[in-house]
Amino acid sequence: MAKFSINLKSGKIDSDKETIIGIDLGTTNSLVAYILDGEPVAVKDKDGKNTLVPSVIHFSEQGVIVGTKAKEKLESDPQNTIYSIKRLLGKSFNDLKEQQGYFGYEILDEDEERLVKIKVDDRYFSPIELSAEILKELKQRIETELEKTVSKAVITVPAYFNDTQRQATRDAGKLAGLEVLRIVNEPTAASLAYGIGRTEESQEEIVAVYDLGGGTFDISILEINDGVFEVLATNGDTYLGGDDFDRKIIQFWLDQMGKDEKTLFADKESMQSIRLLAEKAKKTLSINDDFTGEFEGRSLTITKTQFESMCSSLVEKTIEACQNALSDAEISTKEIDKVILVGGSTRMPMIKDNVSKFFGRPVHDKLDPDEVVALGAAIQADILAGNRKNILLLDVTPLSLGIETLGGLMDTIIPRNSKVPAKAGRNYTTSVDGQKNLKVSVFQGERDLVLHNRKLGEFILSGIPPMPAGIPKIEINFILDADGILLVKAKELRSGVEQEVEIRSQYGLSEEEMALMLLESIKNAESDMKTRALLEAKVEAENIILSAKKFVQNNTELLTLEEAEQTRFLTTALITATKGNDKDAINKAMQTLNEYTSPLAHRVMDHAISKAMKGKEIPPAS
Ligand code: ADP
Ligand code: MG
Repeated sequence: MAKFSINLKSGKIDSDKETIIGIDLGTTNSLVAYILDGEPVAVKDKDGKNTLVPSVIHFSEQGVIVGTKAKEKLESDPQNTIYSIKRLLGKSFNDLKEQQGYFGYEILDEDEERLVKIKVDDRYFSPIELSAEILKELKQRIETELEKTVSKAVITVPAYFNDTQRQATRDAGKLAGLEVLRIVNEPTAASLAYGIGRTEESQEEIVAVYDLGGGTFDISILEINDGVFEVLATNGDTYLGGDDFDRKIIQFWLDQMGKDEKTLFADKESMQSIRLLAEKAKKTLSINDDFTGEFEGRSLTITKTQFESMCSSLVEKTIEACQNALSDAEISTKEIDKVILVGGSTRMPMIKDNVSKFFGRPVHDKLDPDEVVALGAAIQADILAGNRKNILLLDVTPLSLGIETLGGLMDTIIPRNSKVPAKAGRNYTTSVDGQKNLKVSVFQGERDLVLHNRKLGEFILSGIPPMPAGIPKIEINFILDADGILLVKAKELRSGVEQEVEIRSQYGLSEEEMALMLLESIKNAESDMKTRALLEAKVEAENIILSAKKFVQNNTELLTLEEAEQTRFLTTALITATKGNDKDAINKAMQTLNEYTSPLAHRVMDHAISKAMKGKEIPPAS
């Protein structure tokens, strides 16, 4: 039987038709939105004031609290107050070493390779569990508002989030009791909120989404065509955000007081309180020309002009990233149709001015920059609920995906910047006679050698019926779903033996690593090319050695003793050459062997043909 409840606030009767919610799980603030009468709305707190839930968690004997109340504990109880948890999602301690001082709480450094844990009192939490606490708070908020339970959600992530980070976000949702129907990119959600791509006959549009939040900055270039959203390029800095603007103010005040950062860092409580005061100053300067506050009994001031001049290098950095994104997407500012501002920090007038100047057009800032992403997520949820047709979402994969082939070479199957969902396949074969198993090792990265790329996983295709090397036809397919999660299938086509695995990398890449890997691949392109040529020569030589050996074995009666001896001698010379690293020597030895054996091979072939003419069979190819 259908259940009904009356929503007193809207006076609307909700049937038990399921509401899918949209969540912006932010580094600094999170919020939840849903569709009311066809339009997205962000859910407010009990007092009906704030839609933002600070992404802060406080632990005490009374239990766990999330949001504004937890943020208040940043000063009085920093060890038990966790913030910026999104930075830790899908990361290892190694990824975060440099930024240790940034966190006021304890990050466990026992195992550098594994995903991090956070120590609170004598308990350990993973970033997934902590993110789940924030999601639970949001879930509860909307359930109170709608007076019914919700169980399905769309959660947004930055466009550059890798597989591990997306998985971690999904897992956090699961832990919070939410089925995550889709992980959607934040810039895509922001565009949806502005109505871009929502009409049936939309023409092609190129949109730049500039997102400056609390701790991160990213710029995304999207192409929207016929309801299809495609991320052309992303760029940014994962350690540049509103916090850095706060830090500039702190630095300015410390200079005024003649204090240094070290002494302040040692006293966690005063560090937190000056941090909050600086943030207050920054927000005030978005609307006023000066600010005066009090810190430990002293009066501190700052003017808008001072603030803007000390932060100009930060703003400049974001503009450079915009330029880089445009270069990557191979488009000019003139081709950009719309510029959208996202993130609380875009409220600063200097940001609006500079971004608008760079792109040469006014920016879209009508919607609350804190809310746009969540509103867009709610629209995406509505699309998934089947209420809006004709909208598709396409993203791109940030790094190439491929497998290891003979010689430790990377064979790319889905190249970087491919649209997802994506499917691609390629055929391979065995390298040894009678080979029964084939190891499929999956890698992510741009370098020619797998050892420089990141291993995502591996599996073994077993039960291949014994066949000579090169005969089995093994088809390997990569299927990348809309969330960027990879499924790898391997099938031996002659026998039908099949195997498939979903690649859930245990340990993903940080954006820094990703950027580094791209950089390295450019830097090392030349040496990689040399290594690849050497390895290819070795692989080719091995094949030739194998055939030469078989040739001598199979044709004893057709070759003279001297010919057999000389072939063996040249084969050994080639084997010796392959042990070294001189590509030219290998190629030369191959050529000598080939030149010597090719007339012999012709003679053997002629003999076989004349035998066949006499009604005999052609021998199998050696
Ligand atoms: P995130 O996406 O990282 O969770 P938000 O988009 O919520 O972050 O942005 C938070 C940042 O926005 C904080 O650094 C905050 O100080 C800053 N911010 C919020 N309002 C203003 C304002 N009026 N002026 C300047 N900065 C602001
Ligand atoms: Mg954000």
